[in-house]
Amino acid sequence: MTKRYSKKRESILECLRGTKVHPDAQWVYEQLKPTYPDLSLGTVYRNLGELCREGRIVSVATVSDRERFDACLQPHAHAICAGCGKILDVEELDLPDEFVERVQSKTGFSVSYSRLQFVGFCEECRKKRSEN
Ligand code: ZN
Ligand code: MN
Repeated sequence: MTKRYSKKRESILECLRGTKVHPDAQWVYEQLKPTYPDLSLGTVYRNLGELCREGRIVSVATVSDRERFDACLQPHAHAICAGCGKILDVEELDLPDEFVERVQSKTGFSVSYSRLQFVGFCEECRKKRSEN
């Protein structure tokens, strides 16, 4: 691995840590392109994959065929808008133990962690819909 390669990866990580939008590769690419004119979208994809495998970021969801990422590793739920693709954090929402126990007894799994997702339409999208 060259030094330059890993510097880009650190910049990608910093970019993710500095935003709450749960971006896709294209968004990260557009943010970093001015700093790294030789950056390619493929490099961003590859590094995001590496960061996931290293457990430094997580893949949150795929919205409109685009994988979305989060550098916040604390357990938290997400609300995903099916209209505009916005992903919001939902803090302090713990899954009741009873749910986990039910999953374990139904599947025989020992649950390591769980991630909650709620899909719907955000306020702005609902407003737009009612205006039309
Ligand atoms: Zn929306
Ligand atoms: Mn999040």
